[in-house]
Amino acid sequence: MGCGRIWLAALLCALAAWWPAAATAQVGLSGPALRICLAPVRPGETLGDLLAGRIPLDCQGRQTRYGAGNFWAATGPLDIPVADGRMRLRNASMWQARQTIGIVHASGRIDWIVADTRDLTRHVQLGAIIEFAIPADPSPVVRIVWRIEGAGNRRGVINGVQIVSERESDRSNLYMGTLYAAFAGLAIALLIFNFALWRALKHPFQLAYCLMLALLLSYALSSSGLLAWLAPGIDNNNRLRINYMMLSASAGAALLFARTYFEARVFEGGLGRVVDAVVVAMFAVGIGVALFAHRWMVELDLAFSITCGSLIAVIPAIVWQAFAKKSQFIWMFSLAWATPIAMAAMRIGQAMNLVAWNFWLDNSTLIAMAVEALLSSLAIAYRIRLLSAERDRAVEQAAVDRLLAATDPLTALLNRRAFLNHAIGREGRQQLLLLDIDHFKQVNETLGHDGGDEVLRVVARVLRTGVPEGTLVARLGGEEFALVADAATPIDPRALLARLRATRMPFDYAVTASVGACMGPLATDIDWKRLYQSADRALFEAKAGGRDRARIVEGLAAVA
Ligand code: GH3
Ligand code: MG
Ligand code: MG
Repeated sequence: MGCGRIWLAALLCALAAWWPAAATAQVGLSGPALRICLAPVRPGETLGDLLAGRIPLDCQGRQTRYGAGNFWAATGPLDIPVADGRMRLRNASMWQARQTIGIVHASGRIDWIVADTRDLTRHVQLGAIIEFAIPADPSPVVRIVWRIEGAGNRRGVINGVQIVSERESDRSNLYMGTLYAAFAGLAIALLIFNFALWRALKHPFQLAYCLMLALLLSYALSSSGLLAWLAPGIDNNNRLRINYMMLSASAGAALLFARTYFEARVFEGGLGRVVDAVVVAMFAVGIGVALFAHRWMVELDLAFSITCGSLIAVIPAIVWQAFAKKSQFIWMFSLAWATPIAMAAMRIGQAMNLVAWNFWLDNSTLIAMAVEALLSSLAIAYRIRLLSAERDRAVEQAAVDRLLAATDPLTALLNRRAFLNHAIGREGRQQLLLLDIDHFKQVNETLGHDGGDEVLRVVARVLRTGVPEGTLVARLGGEEFALVADAATPIDPRALLARLRATRMPFDYAVTASVGACMGPLATDIDWKRLYQSADRALFEAKAGGRDRARIVEGLAAVA
């Protein structure tokens, strides 16, 4: 698996190279964000105070340091023409109850926009960006101010503010739509593919993977903002709740996948229980946010971050154990999951305010999962390769077992059972020869038991060669052999005995045999009994007649 190691290293390097570039992109597809200054609302303060500059704003510190609450926000001085009415004000969708926006023009005119979370839904664009049309005005926009109420402020109060043209907005929707459609296509294809494989192979990890894909698709639907387009009546905060729920459930399902992907021995010694607890916690937090976010958003968001953190913490433990327990799947797993794990770690860093908010990071789940999904198909293909190799070995072993069960170990001829299986049911007239070595007891006495065995092998070789194709040759037991050939191409028993006589035996011992032969149908058990009794009687007559001879009977015995 040296190859896997190189892949992993390459992936991590690519990730490291990509990360700063993504971080400087900041707001995604339409240029840098405007710098926003902020202050918590204090009692008695009004928008008039904000506009008059009577409220000191913080333009340096991190927004998140103020915690949840109501806020004033404002851009610095601007000079943006909006005469054509095609300009749009955008910001990333955040948890909040209401926004009041004042768009200040050079003329002194202020356009007011008020939107509660229900109104915000109607302004959601792909990529979960809230977008308002700026009314046409010959006088340029010189400043924008906000009053934001009920901000959760876990990732900031107001982020990613931009003023863009209608065209830029359309382009952003197109790009985001392409990104999400590509992800959805990939996820749906993998979902169908893995589900079909699960139906065939029944490995629990395949179901966990399907669950994860289904949840990620739901997450993509709501976090992309597409849900807001499909259900414009839904409250934007409720859409964010669905995001949380689907994201944490997806993470839970991803961990469940790891739990079921590795061999059971990886999770021995308590790790299994810890992982199970984190899986349950992930699902529980998701449900908690869905049910109680209106009351405990901040606490739940913290719980979400902590649970995600513990998920990220158990992954190295799983990987370590998988190494220690020599899991066959460790490199494939590491390869497939390196990107999403690194991304998730950075997202948690963002949630914990260790990494600044940025658009790409906020949308990283899908990119990371797309990488993961593609690499996972490699991982699954690898597992299937192992499974099919296992199956091929089993099929080979079964064939060997069947062969062993059908052959006589000393001579490698068919044994009695296999011979009967093959012989009974043959169509058309058949010839049966029973051959018994003469005075074999003496052979044993003279040559010893091993010498006797060798004689049996040599006799078997003589019988096997020089008989018509399709002849069944078996050792019925002891020094007694049977041959069944088509009556159309019969074996000449006398020629057979002559060949045996002419064959050089161990210690040049002269070995002869007697043969009883007859012909008849062999379609049923009764046919067999009749044929066998006739051949046996002929063999007895050959022995009685002085041995080293063949006796051929024409009529068949009546079945006793
Ligand atoms: P006949 O000419 O009447 O057939 O005399 P025979 O001595 O060949 O017949 P009998 O059935 O009395 O003896 C068969 C002997 O074959 C007895 C047994 O010890 C020996 N025998 C049976 N199976 C094996 C075997 O696998 N290896 C060896 N070396 N001897 C065997
Ligand atoms: Mg004998
Ligand atoms: Mg015998």
